[in-house]
Amino acid sequence: MEFRVGIGFDAHRFAPNRNLKLCGVTIPYELGLIGHSDADVALHALCDALLGALSLGDIGQHFPDTDPRYKDADSSTFLLAVMSLVRERGWQVNNVDITIIAQAPKLSPYRDAMRSRLAELLGVKADVVSVKATTTDQMGFVGRKEGIAAIAVVSLTRNEGGGKR
Ligand code: MG
Repeated sequence: MEFRVGIGFDAHRFAPNRNLKLCGVTIPYELGLIGHSDADVALHALCDALLGALSLGDIGQHFPDTDPRYKDADSSTFLLAVMSLVRERGWQVNNVDITIIAQAPKLSPYRDAMRSRLAELLGVKADVVSVKATTTDQMGFVGRKEGIAAIAVVSLTRNEGGGKR
């Protein structure tokens, strides 16, 4: 059995008149995150973790923010495209652990919805998908409620010789 891990990090800034999307779920809040796509910081960190595990670069290389096709794109489509690369190479997701770093809004009411949506996008059971949330005790850009950050870790396995490298 071959085994890989990957890590991803991302941060986006709050802006008015934007939907707040985290892990593919719309979270009710007075502000959303701004970016070229829908700025789903958790999905971006997860895409980078998967790409990192396979040494396939980063999300900016695969989905450049200069490409008009990705303007306001649903970041779920990025994750599905990355998962195609994972599967093509014979890998499967063992588990995923995401920490969302946000002073506001309170995310615990949406944790199970986020886990279910991620499980659906990844094609795994929700019990191997962990979504955690923390604040920064009001320190730094997160603490000033300027934006949200996310860290993701994934582990992947495949049978020896199970696909192209
Ligand atoms: Mg991003």
